[in-house]
Formats: sequence, C-alpha cells, structure tokens
Amino acid sequence: MSKDDCIFCKIANGEIPSATVYEDSICRVILDVNPANKGHALVIPKEHYDDIFSMDADTASKIFTIATEVAKAQKAELNPDGLNIVQNNGEAAGQTVFHFHMHVIPRFIKDDVNIKWLPKKPEADELETLSKALRKRI
Ligand code: 5GP
Ligand code: ZN
Repeated sequence: MSKDDCIFCKIANGEIPSATVYEDSICRVILDVNPANKGHALVIPKEHYDDIFSMDADTASKIFTIATEVAKAQKAELNPDGLNIVQNNGEAAGQTVFHFHMHVIPRFIKDDVNIKWLPKKPEADELETLSKALRKRI
C-alpha cells in the first residue's frame, strides 16, 4: 500500500532523492534533513504504515535489525558517546510525518539533544494491576 500524498512513501521508493545510507526491498535509510545531531538517520519502510499500531511483526523486526546495523555504522564513522533509538507514534508523541519511521540518533557528551521525562511515582498496586491487564493482551 502506498499513499499518493505521503512524502516518506516517495522518499522510501526513490521518487524523491534523499541522502541514502542503505536500501533493500523492505526499507530505505536516509539522513534526516533537519538532524538532532550529526548522522541522525531515519529507517523508513517502503510500504506505507501510518505508525507502529499498523505494522506487522515481521516488518518491525527487519526495521530494528537494520537500525542496529545503522547504529554500528554511525559508531564506526562518527565515534559517538551514545545513541538513541526514537520512534514517535501520534501527534501526542511528537510524530510529524505519518509514515512509520525509526530515528537513529548518535549522541555526544554535553550535546543539546533533550530526550528526558519526569519520572512518576505510581501507587503501590498500580504496576501489578496494569501489568496483569497488559499481559492478557499480548
Ligand atoms: P517525527 O517527528 O515524525 O518522528 O520525525 C519526522 C522527521 O522527519 C523529522 O526529524 C524531520 O526532520 C524529518 N523529515 C521531514 N521531512 C523530511 C524530508 O523531506 N527529508 C528528510 N531527509 N527528512 C525529513
Ligand atoms: Zn507513506
């Protein structure tokens, strides 16, 4: 399935040129045009999936496998101090392009990238109750 008006469909399938790091029949890896840091890459499936909720396990595993290869290439080329994998789903989570993609972001000590949240303190029984409810759904 592809969406006529989806920019990542066009990029992933080569209709729009991009700084491509890797390509196979399943996905294309490109450099982000507005990177958080040098080397910031996006792993983009060639098929259109809006987000993680519509993605099948087989494609997801291939995407993550390629992300690990990208991470190792970034490590070898850029020698980062760390690395974040980020994958946003829905406006509430910061998704701006509604074609699934995985960010692979090299990190450097004292860089200005901010991926932090305030840790919450759940009630005593909340984790136990919620883990049981979720377990039933997997
Ligand atoms: P999101 O916020 O949806 O997780 O991430 C979208 C990412 O796609 C952003 O980091 C943005 O810079 C990147 N992006 C958006 N349009 C283009 C484009 O046309 N080319 C490239 N290479 N990256 C893009
Ligand atoms: Zn698309």
